[in-house]
Amino acid sequence: MLSNNPEFRELLLLHGRDRRLGKLEEESNLLPEDIIRIEQKISIENESIELAVSEWKLLETNNTSLEKEIIEISEKIAKSKTRQLEVKKNEEYQALENEISSLTTIQSEKEDEQIEILVKIDDAQSTASIAQDKIAQKVKDLEHQKADLEVRMLKVKGEMQDLKEEIETSRKEVPEEMLRAYDRVKKVVARPPYLAPLKDQKCSGCHLRVSNDVISTALVEQKLTQCDQCGRIVYVER
Ligand SMILES: [Zn+2]
Repeated sequence: MLSNNPEFRELLLLHGRDRRLGKLEEESNLLPEDIIRIEQKISIENESIELAVSEWKLLETNNTSLEKEIIEISEKIAKSKTRQLEVKKNEEYQALENEISSLTTIQSEKEDEQIEILVKIDDAQSTASIAQDKIAQKVKDLEHQKADLEVRMLKVKGEMQDLKEEIETSRKEVPEEMLRAYDRVKKVVARPPYLAPLKDQKCSGCHLRVSNDVISTALVEQKLTQCDQCGRIVYVER
């Protein structure tokens, strides 16, 4: 039986190493995308902190300009009151009185507006500080995840390098004819496994029943037998 053949056992070993390398290659292709996804999450989180802080800063700016307006109005009122003391005519006095009254109304409106803004500032300030605390923790976790993936990437690269060397060694142990047949199957079959044990007369690669000829060849002969459905090399396990 082929599976007792030491040369075939070398081929099985090579196959195992090839499959492990294939899985590591897949992982190493996906890891950079995972790392980029985490970096994108980190920048989104950081932007949301900036957004919360900038809303708060904008309110502070509004408050500052409102404060200035209120002071200017107070100064105008004070000036008008001083002028009232100086004017002689009753009409002039009344005109100043009207001006003072309308300025006072505007001033009180501005003060109400300022109170609203101060409340909003309080809210925005606490929102920003909550966002900073919560998001800072999230960003820290994401940075950890990213670092873990980077470590994994290095490990995968190292393992791939080792496996490639092991595969080179393995290929030297397999007889040339067998190796050529195996390489052909690797090209023809879309995905691993390339060697598939027979189970209940079925190829464990494609799960289809193989012909009796294939079964008897696999059982008796010491040469490679292929599944007549998918082309994988089939064998009977000891
Ligand atoms: Zn098959």
